[in-house]
Amino acid sequence: MRRILLIDDDRLQLALTRAQFGQFCAEQFELDYAATYEDGLTQLLAGGHAACLLDYQLGARDGLALIREAVARGCRTPIIFLTAETSENVDTAAMNAGALDYLVKGEIKPATLERSLRYALKLGETLDQLHRLATRDALTGLLNRREFDRLLAEETERAKRFGRPLALVLLDLDLFKSVNDTHGHPAGDAVLRAAADRLAAELRVVDRLARFGGEEFAVLLPETPPAGALDMAERLVAAMRRAPVVLPDGTSLAQRVSAGAASLPAHAANAADLVRAADRALYAAKHAGRDRAMLG
Ligand code: GH3
Ligand code: MG
Ligand code: MG
Repeated sequence: MRRILLIDDDRLQLALTRAQFGQFCAEQFELDYAATYEDGLTQLLAGGHAACLLDYQLGARDGLALIREAVARGCRTPIIFLTAETSENVDTAAMNAGALDYLVKGEIKPATLERSLRYALKLGETLDQLHRLATRDALTGLLNRREFDRLLAEETERAKRFGRPLALVLLDLDLFKSVNDTHGHPAGDAVLRAAADRLAAELRVVDRLARFGGEEFAVLLPETPPAGALDMAERLVAAMRRAPVVLPDGTSLAQRVSAGAASLPAHAANAADLVRAADRALYAAKHAGRDRAMLG
């Protein structure tokens, strides 16, 4: 059953909403509840809610501020605003902050609420699909280059601000052109997908793997100094070496990879230089005979 989060400091609203949920015709929802700004934000950011009903006035806090903070922290749960009275200003402000709809408490009937939730859910699904299309690579399902560049910039800023290391590993499949030439482009695609899965299986949850270019991958490793970066790069190379890739038609194929690792601040002071340092190391690994990892 889909879960809806109600954030409202007025417990009467909880009882009322629960009663209205009971009168829905088409769909049943499970209702979660938060009475404060902090609890609401925590539950919202934890994810898992199909939509959120949010009170405009949360005690001394402002529901608009909560929407802005949640959105800034990556929340994409559809939010429906609840207010005590009709006001054009609140309507516009709620929409600008990122709310999908706006309901006046005294005027909410079960059918109104159900319809608003249904629309929010549908729009939420569409927004999720759009977000996926904008941030993922279609072939491998990994992060795409654009999303990776955004994360790299974000993580670089964080690393510099807190004086923490940040590593980057660039990987490039070895002699991949010959896979296409010998087995055809669809087989090449299958190898790319298999390589993506193989690499992903080696990573920690905080590491971010992207398709960096055609047959190139990139891994962003927070909190990782040079030695750790080289370790991970070697581990990824070894993971490809460990077993052949099996194509959909049963053909088994030894696909190797070369890697270049670099870490901030040891090898670079900014994102662009970090990429250059890892790329240099990758080039050196290719030059030294492929199927190996080098440190920038
Ligand atoms: P090296 O070890 O020096 O990296 O040799 P390589 O053959 O891997 O390098 P090269 O850059 O010459 O070839 C990369 C090939 O990757 C060429 C290109 O057709 C192929 N490629 C890039 N993107 C895709 C893709 O999405 N699907 C398939 N099947 N092939 C791709
Ligand atoms: Mg290449
Ligand atoms: Mg290559």
